[in-house]
Amino acid sequence: MFAALPRARLAHLPTPLAPLPRLSAALGGPRLWVKRDDLTGLAAGGNKTRKLEFLVGAALAQGADMLLTAGAAQSNHCAQTAAAAARHGLRCGLVLRGTPPAALSGNLILDTLYGAELIWAGDRPREAVLAEAEAAARAAGHRPYAFPIGGSTPVGATGYVLAMAELAEQSAALGVTFDRIVFASSSGGTHAGLVVGASLTGFAGQVLGVSIDHGAGELQAHVADLATRTARLLGRADTYAPAHVSANSDYLGGGYAVIGDAEREALRLFAQTDGLVLDPVYTGRAAAALIGLARPGAFAPTENVLFWHTGGTAALYAYGAETLGN
Ligand SMILES: *Cc1c(COP(=O)(O)O)cnc(C)c1O
Repeated sequence: MFAALPRARLAHLPTPLAPLPRLSAALGGPRLWVKRDDLTGLAAGGNKTRKLEFLVGAALAQGADMLLTAGAAQSNHCAQTAAAAARHGLRCGLVLRGTPPAALSGNLILDTLYGAELIWAGDRPREAVLAEAEAAARAAGHRPYAFPIGGSTPVGATGYVLAMAELAEQSAALGVTFDRIVFASSSGGTHAGLVVGASLTGFAGQVLGVSIDHGAGELQAHVADLATRTARLLGRADTYAPAHVSANSDYLGGGYAVIGDAEREALRLFAQTDGLVLDPVYTGRAAAALIGLARPGAFAPTENVLFWHTGGTAALYAYGAETLGN
């Protein structure tokens, strides 16, 4: 179905699908499972690697010699982009929010090791700085392929359409039907890809994105639009409305990357039950939502609920003190 789209192999696939027996017991049900996209194998792993397979595929097909993208200073997306560029011998420019920190930590160490050029945007809109960087790269004789924050274009989201097909095979082999998939959603590419993949594979459960930084209505509208454009790219006529998209924005707390007690508790619980390492910005917030929904019994005890682990491990090391609460 996607034979026509160029793809650069970057991820170790399929990622493991495993039960979480001790976490399930600690929460008193449902039956919890994890899809380990923190183990995609590029940089410190994470969900951007599946998107980058198609973004780098498109870049190489166009004859690009450079990847350009943007993110937060501790962007997992930027670190995985830097790694993908290095693997394919491409230059890499990263537009980051803010100003250079006194000491590099977490993903900034990876960005630097992979040889990416860091372009600090201060408080200017990163889209504008990215456009300038693209123009400057062209003027310098490079052939950049630029993509927005999170790699959330229809090309990038295609990685998560395929991920649903991967999950369908694994769940058939295990004989498990998932009632819900819960994951962190921000720039929407993962969410949109899963929504399109769910309809292509006939997945009947809920695809519940836990919003990291937007109101639910805004996220649903954005994901529906991106899902529709992704379906078009794949030659499908399906149109998705915001009502087709499940999103929960009850766990925004103090905002993006503001770590609260809910994230701290989730990181400890996941680590101390089934040994999973989460990050405090994305997966920790999604896990807090999962815990918050499971406790009052929003899920039936017999349900199979899949936590799709989207990575973020390297960012944990940049937020150690706040995560441990000292
Ligand atoms: C980027 C990211 C997300 C969100 O994915 P989007 O496709 O941007 O919505 C979730 N978790 C982690 C760890 C991420 O780095």
